[in-house]
Amino acid sequence: MELGRDLQGPLVRRGEAGYEALRAAMVWNGLKPERFPDVIVQAASERDVRTAVRFARSAGLRVAVRSGGHNWVGSSVRDGGLLIDLSRLDACAVDTTSATASAQSAVRGRELAAALAGHGLAFPFGHCGSVAIGGYLLSGGLGWNPGVWGPACLSVAEIEAVTASGEVVRCDEDENADLFWAARGAGPGFFAIVTRFRLRLSRLPAAITTSAYAFPLPDVADVTSWAVEVAAALPPAVELSLTLGTAPQEPGTKAVVVTAVCFADSADETARSLAAFRACPLAGRALTRSDGRPATFGTLFDGSDALWPEHHRVAADTLWSTRDLGALLPPLADDVAAAPSGKSLVLANIAPAPPGGAADLAFSMLGRSYVVGYAIWQDPAHDQANTRWLRATMDRAAPQSAGHYIAEADLPAAASRSRRSFTPETWERLRAVRARWDPEGVFQPYLEA
Ligand SMILES: Cc1cc2nc3c(=O)[nH]c(=O)nc-3n(C[C@H](O)[C@H](O)[C@H](O)COP(=O)(O)OP(=O)(O)OC[C@H]3O[C@@H](n4cnc5c(N)ncnc54)[C@H](O)[C@@H]3O)c2cc1C
Repeated sequence: MELGRDLQGPLVRRGEAGYEALRAAMVWNGLKPERFPDVIVQAASERDVRTAVRFARSAGLRVAVRSGGHNWVGSSVRDGGLLIDLSRLDACAVDTTSATASAQSAVRGRELAAALAGHGLAFPFGHCGSVAIGGYLLSGGLGWNPGVWGPACLSVAEIEAVTASGEVVRCDEDENADLFWAARGAGPGFFAIVTRFRLRLSRLPAAITTSAYAFPLPDVADVTSWAVEVAAALPPAVELSLTLGTAPQEPGTKAVVVTAVCFADSADETARSLAAFRACPLAGRALTRSDGRPATFGTLFDGSDALWPEHHRVAADTLWSTRDLGALLPPLADDVAAAPSGKSLVLANIAPAPPGGAADLAFSMLGRSYVVGYAIWQDPAHDQANTRWLRATMDRAAPQSAGHYIAEADLPAAASRSRRSFTPETWERLRAVRARWDPEGVFQPYLEA
């Protein structure tokens, strides 16, 4: 089998012209992994995906996959083997009658939101518009409006996938249900290639507003304890998050910012929903306050893109905890104050219980408190200082950790990161489903230390 001849899209081998630029482009993070696939195939069609998998099997090459390249640790880029880049597979068709969309894996949140908005529809998009749905949905997807929409993978009705044997299968809750279960949470260790998702769409909220209160970082204990209290009083359609980092509009000041994003049917409803938030007893201590600013998914994406800008080097790690955020965040304030880069931050929220109760998904929410640390910097000379800072900060919180979120876990930090991103039962079930669908290990396993 001559792979290049059978493909519609291009293929580049290690050592050939263009290889290094393409390898680097596989990862959105400015910090590129020192790992080198033998071959990179840029699939131009779903048929190319099948052809590449069949070729890899016959050549004894392990297969890695990439949709949008947003995995922080570049898990798609491995040493040796064949990397299938799906970035050209970004078509999306909306069916307004069934309120579903058929979307290929490289469709990004911003484009999906724009395509749906015209029909008055929406989806639990990830917080940054540049994230592709492929790796995001496979990981579970912690997106906007989680109290109402739940993790995004709950809104996946069906997938089409190319298996390790090079066959195309359709999976939903009735057909190939075990692979469908795994596709909703296994993340960067999934053992097939999803080429298409059928998404269940939601009504676009008619009114979205953001409110944000910034307090001096030394007030973190009081602010967190208020945020935990108010979160319990707010309706599910209010998404509350805390950010420890540099104060907005005040580059020299560190702050803790509490943000409430409200998704509602009318401006009146947003105002009612946020009454408890506006009654903040600490308001007098706020450095800045904004209330009920009208937003769209476009402006929400703009806000997130400013915090996680392109062309930066980023190290990230996550943890779930069964402890209250009040126990988790104050001990991190000194780390945030001393971060080598002013762009670094710690983000936290209280994950709402999934609507409709616990569903049978590989996605594992291992606690209600969720904390993510991000070291964000630009100068390669500062790599060590920033990665060391991130590890030290997350190590401080580690004794309170119940596990990790697979989408943003620092997988190379410890061999246990992937296993500890799932309940023990889910991890065992994932191994069993993998053994059934990929018995010869055609697909790369989780990236490890
Ligand atoms: C700026 C930024 C913002 C983010 N915001 C959020 C957020 O709000 N919520 C959240 O939950 N996560 C968020 N993430 C994390 C993100 O969801 C994951 O990194 C996810 O993997 C990105 O998807 P991708 O397709 O770009 O991944 P890629 O880097 O392309 O792929 C990562 C891995 O996923 C697997 N994979 C990807 N596509 C396929 C496929 N089609 N079939 C089989 N396996 C596949 C492969 O194992 C691959 O190695 C964010 C990341 C970034 C960089």
